[in-house]
Amino acid sequence: MTQVYNFSSGPAVLPREVMLAAQAELTDWHGTGMSVMEMSHRGREFTQIITEAEADLRKLLALPSDYTVLFMQGGAHFHFAMVPLNLAQEGDTVDYVDTGHWSRIAIKEARRYANVHVVASGEAGRFTSIPDEAQWQHSSKAAYLHYCSNETIGGVEFPFVPQSQAPLVCDMSSNILSQPLDVSRFGLIYAGAQKNIGPSGLTLAIVRDDLLGRARAATPTMLDYQVHAAADSLYNTPPTFAIYVAGLVFKWLLEQGGLAGIAQRNIEKAALLYETLDASGFYHCPVDRPYRSRMNVPFRLTEDRLDDAFLEGAKARGLLQLKGHRSVGGMRASIYNAMPLEGVKALCDYLREFEKTHG
Ligand code: PMP
Repeated sequence: MTQVYNFSSGPAVLPREVMLAAQAELTDWHGTGMSVMEMSHRGREFTQIITEAEADLRKLLALPSDYTVLFMQGGAHFHFAMVPLNLAQEGDTVDYVDTGHWSRIAIKEARRYANVHVVASGEAGRFTSIPDEAQWQHSSKAAYLHYCSNETIGGVEFPFVPQSQAPLVCDMSSNILSQPLDVSRFGLIYAGAQKNIGPSGLTLAIVRDDLLGRARAATPTMLDYQVHAAADSLYNTPPTFAIYVAGLVFKWLLEQGGLAGIAQRNIEKAALLYETLDASGFYHCPVDRPYRSRMNVPFRLTEDRLDDAFLEGAKARGLLQLKGHRSVGGMRASIYNAMPLEGVKALCDYLREFEKTHG
């Protein structure tokens, strides 16, 4: 097979070393004669897998002891409902920052359960920036403040952690584990696994312990963070294979020098790609420079009619899944942790070449 580089926004490329490790023990995990897929989630073997995965994640994030790690299902979408159900009572006001597609979906869902106040919106600037924090209109007694640290579709990323009196809640689906993080600033973090953590089907939540056990009475059992916390993420059958692969990803990250090590590489990759786009008169990235995502790089060609030829040529060179989200069109290169620098270099070479022949 020829070398390919996969720029999918998620499910996204996983580290090659992780895939090979999973392949090597696919049918026989550590001499047990069983695949991880075939093991009881309550048996000794899987207990070791999930315990190690959590310990490695805690190490990576230097997680304070008063935070609980939950391995869950339901995707980030479940948390759009779980957050208001668990952290706000009926009639409570909850604050949201509106920075694009994913924060808007979170807002829409929260409106079903709470009185949503939007503290700031990037809509006037067509979501190409983060609204100036000094202008945010916090409500006086919000149950929490929610934001999305990286808008996967718009390619807009927070370069800072917002200030908040209320517990800070973050959808970190597309930039978790991409740089060091001071978790103590947050009340709750959630993230779908399928970008920087592992296979889809797994969702991670990190909850400050004082926020557990507050779900309103009508909350479905499966949507109560406390239920999952009390059962050590084994209330029901969890996505065992996905947790196992996530555990391999955490070990791989530790080998890369942890989050500080991977952050350096992510900065280097993003800088190279944005510089290449900016240096050309042919490609255009709409996002305000300070808020450009290090993970998802949206760009357009000067003429949309060249999109198909661009994608075809890319595919022929093994550069896959560069088509932008259907809601915005154009292109998007997702360059998560597992994308090697060589992949970004190959994309930059192709960008220059295509411009030369079509520009
Ligand atoms: N939030 C963000 C920032 C995302 O990128 C995504 C998925 N692309 C979601 C939420 C939704 O995740 P899921 O499909 O796992 O529910």
